[in-house]
Amino acid sequence: MITCTNCETAQFLQITQSRVYFEDGEMINEISETYECTLCGATGKYVYDEDSDEETVTGEVEHTTERPKYA
Ligand SMILES: [Zn+2]
Repeated sequence: MITCTNCETAQFLQITQSRVYFEDGEMINEISETYECTLCGATGKYVYDEDSDEETVTGEVEHTTERPKYA
């Protein structure tokens, strides 16, 4: 899941932009999501590349497999 590095929770994150890239009109190659934390105003971007199965997170958000602090 994507969490805000300042608030350490995903609770206030909003996806402000979401894009899916296609190849040959069918295969999803890349997913791009822009996040904004409505609590502290932090922004970040999450990109998933299906070809290389690689996740990239930039900005003031982080990708974590941990359970949320505030469930
Ligand atoms: Zn925040």
